[in-house]
Amino acid sequence: MRCFLLLLIFISSSLHANDKWDLLIRNGLVIDGTGAAGQRLVIGIEGDRIVYVGPDREGFDAKDVIDAEGLVVTPGFIDPHTHAWDERGAQGGILLESYLTQGITTVFSGNDGKGPSDVGAALGELAQRGLGANMALFVGHGTVRRQVLGMDAREPTPQELAEMKKLVITSMKAGALGVSSGLFYAPGSFAKTEEVVELARVAAGFGGVYETHIRDESNYSIGLQAAIEEAIEVGRIAGVPVHIAHIKALGVDVWGQSNEVIARIDAARAEGIRVTADQYPWRASGTRISNALVPRWAMAGGRIQMLARLKAPESKGRIHEQMWENLRRRGGAEAILLTGGKFEWRGQTLAHFAEVRGESAIAAADYILHEGDAGIASFNMHEDDIQAFMAQPWVMTSSDGGAGHPRKYASFPNKFRRYVDELSLLPLEDFVHKSTLLTARTFGLVNRGVISEGAFADVLLFDPQVFGPIATYAQPAKPSVGVQYLLVNGKLAIRQGQLTGHLAGNSLARQH
Ligand SMILES: [Zn+2]
Repeated sequence: MRCFLLLLIFISSSLHANDKWDLLIRNGLVIDGTGAAGQRLVIGIEGDRIVYVGPDREGFDAKDVIDAEGLVVTPGFIDPHTHAWDERGAQGGILLESYLTQGITTVFSGNDGKGPSDVGAALGELAQRGLGANMALFVGHGTVRRQVLGMDAREPTPQELAEMKKLVITSMKAGALGVSSGLFYAPGSFAKTEEVVELARVAAGFGGVYETHIRDESNYSIGLQAAIEEAIEVGRIAGVPVHIAHIKALGVDVWGQSNEVIARIDAARAEGIRVTADQYPWRASGTRISNALVPRWAMAGGRIQMLARLKAPESKGRIHEQMWENLRRRGGAEAILLTGGKFEWRGQTLAHFAEVRGESAIAAADYILHEGDAGIASFNMHEDDIQAFMAQPWVMTSSDGGAGHPRKYASFPNKFRRYVDELSLLPLEDFVHKSTLLTARTFGLVNRGVISEGAFADVLLFDPQVFGPIATYAQPAKPSVGVQYLLVNGKLAIRQGQLTGHLAGNSLARQH
């Protein structure tokens, strides 16, 4: 009898379920992503959409209710620079847990010129395998160049350029966010500005963005200011919005130059060129021994040729000389932490590893290059520059997440804890805006990055007392804490602080 009654109650409640929202979030401080101050509002969700944002009322009901008392409720963060595409693994679903646990519901990938050459095929693969968070992709200039010219350090012929353009057109049609470039890296470094302009023009034709890891963030080649100028020039000639990846002043020689860079970008913006940037909130950048120290001419043709040049008596001395200079720029061997590659050196500074081997820092670096190269954290930024860039209204939050650096697990929480909470450099609303709607608008994501009726239900609820990083340079792969709930397209990716394992993300094709 009792069982029968319970069954009746169950049936009647599920019959009424259609009159209710799927999910109701109440009692939280809602910061909507526009930059407006937080308010205590209710959010109603049905399917993958937000259907109500407003004051609480008697009679509101839902199948599932989250009491957000004490929590901050924001749009899910959008991370415009990750290496998730390269780290997706060979098969199976891609959970993206290092991003979810930071409160991120959408990641971009294919940055630094390394995006897939066929974005349509890539988006198809992501959709088929399943994603924990939404992902959108750039088509990579470096990838496209490599496909057509290999690692050759030369200009493309007109036919080769046409072939490169064709690849970009196909990807833009399929929904790429734009073209990314990594002009600091080989083979992107072999391209002249005109080549980049030609491909950026294609992206512009589809309403896309030109995203760039600029040619020089330091004084390696043309210098920081000229590299910023080159990016602006691409925007001016190609008529394309320019986005500067992980803006920084890298190395002791350019510390303090943030003010000049900011003034230059403000002037370009005043001229009508759309220039934006993103930034990860850390003093160390992450790269490899080869990219950090070896001159680009020595890398032409690829790794085998580089190693041959490092051995050959006629070139070895010259390469080592330039490696010493690059090491000085980056603050010396003490400022290089070896985070990847063989266990033999992992976790040590280059200075320490060289001492253990009883040789010079560059001899040790040469050894590492022959043993397969190493990921590094390179402590080369000044706190004043970091803060000057962060305060600009056109600078958004990013992780540049990749293995061997805490930024993959802790960029957004670290920025909140250090620059919002401890230093009060950014108001909370501003931090949220720069981590959500500013990014969505810059890259043309529709109905994301904002808490409003009709928007996709990508929603983050975090505890401001707890939200923060756990990862460190020594232990970079530690998930952040403080995200209590996270919704991706209306589904709970994190519930009561625990990952649910749902693959609710979509592969996002840019609308045009
Ligand atoms: Zn980069």
